[in-house]
Amino acid sequence: MFEKVLIANRGEIALRVHRACREMGIKTVAIHSTADADAMHVRLANESVCIGPAPASESYLNIPAIISACEITGADAVHPGYGFLSENAKFADILHAHGITFIGPTAEHIRVMGDKIQAKITAKELGIPVVPGSDGAIRTDEEAYKVAEETGYPVLVKAAAGGGGRGMKVARSKGELSSALSTARAEAKAAFGDDSLYMEKYLGQPRHIEVQVIADSHGNVAHLGERDCSLQRRHQKVLEECPSPALNAQQREEIGGIVSRAIKKLGYLGVGTVEFLYEDGQFFFIEMNTRLQVEHPITEAVTGIDLVREQIRIAAGMEMSFSQEDVQFNGHAIECRINAEDPKTFAPSPGTIKDFHTPGGLGVRVDSAVYSGYRIPPYYDSLIGKLVVSGRNRNECMMRLRRTLHEFVIDGIKTTIPLFQELVNEPDFINGEYHIHWLEDFLKKQQG
Ligand code: ADP
Repeated sequence: MFEKVLIANRGEIALRVHRACREMGIKTVAIHSTADADAMHVRLANESVCIGPAPASESYLNIPAIISACEITGADAVHPGYGFLSENAKFADILHAHGITFIGPTAEHIRVMGDKIQAKITAKELGIPVVPGSDGAIRTDEEAYKVAEETGYPVLVKAAAGGGGRGMKVARSKGELSSALSTARAEAKAAFGDDSLYMEKYLGQPRHIEVQVIADSHGNVAHLGERDCSLQRRHQKVLEECPSPALNAQQREEIGGIVSRAIKKLGYLGVGTVEFLYEDGQFFFIEMNTRLQVEHPITEAVTGIDLVREQIRIAAGMEMSFSQEDVQFNGHAIECRINAEDPKTFAPSPGTIKDFHTPGGLGVRVDSAVYSGYRIPPYYDSLIGKLVVSGRNRNECMMRLRRTLHEFVIDGIKTTIPLFQELVNEPDFINGEYHIHWLEDFLKKQQG
């Protein structure tokens, strides 16, 4: 087992990884920018190294500085968290060349799944159902028109290097398609330095349902059920629940089995998430995330399995601590992403937190790295905490969610808590009847 793990991240996820290491008796190294010198992950880690100035490009994304930090501290492995370098195949390669373990899948699998065109081709070959669309990159407008005629309008133009919903454009007619292609191409070039595009049928009212999988180097593979992440704003997840209100046990086993067999065939290592759109009883692959996800705690709440501990065990060459037969799905869990944002306009609201009090009690978990007196720097993601609530069933979970949202105190800045307080009283949400566009419609109604 590793003696010392360097955590190449910040915020709540750096703390999350630190906690798993601590429980396993592994020492931790925090890295931080000059803006994060007072951060909780820096305070709790055994050691810390300042790796650069505030902008992420010069600190949390600065590979040479991170490698130096590993060498100075003698870390034998790196956990990348999510975001930043977590899906950077080059980073995994460089660590490997330095004899440091990357806690994640192989660079090759990161590369394949990071190119969404390649990922879709691979998924199809592995027997995973995909969204109908172009078989690979779209090179000319004529090619795009042809695909659109086959699938029917509306279509969605997507960037091969896409992420965070960028480089995605809907076209409802041939007239719209030409401009969608050029805008998506420009956006993809600017955001990712890669303007390859592909096309998919635009699904009207699907749910976003993703399957959590895990595999070790001893041939063990398991799925840990699904998460429903249909509540989104600008293609970004806002609230997630496990299990999905739309699936029953048999459907869960079916899709879980398909995904497990696929990643076994792929020879995948570590934790991963296969994302689908689900409409009219059918699953359509959209992408695979080769890392730990923000919403992983709801799966942990329902299965009782510590996903970060399993990641570390697997990276160290050990077997995962359970098999598929051991996995039990108990009750229901919901996660709210609490952002330092205005709950109406979603404008970022950095500043100093004057008072911070987290809810507690049975079935309540708060993953956050902020504290009373903490100053939120303006340079990074606005996620400041995750409220994860669980209960023996969905109803109990909802009751607990309402209670905890009123108990949470974050003074001094604006947060998205008021949005969740409204959501929990919406009949569609209460009944679990929502799809990927539901939240945007709800927000529009509120403003109108
Ligand atoms: P990104 O990597 O940018 O997050 P994804 O492919 O994961 O992009 O898609 C993000 C979200 O965009 C999905 O959860 C869904 O809401 C929407 N989306 C993606 N593909 C489609 C599609 N074919 N039809 C309708 N909505 C889609």
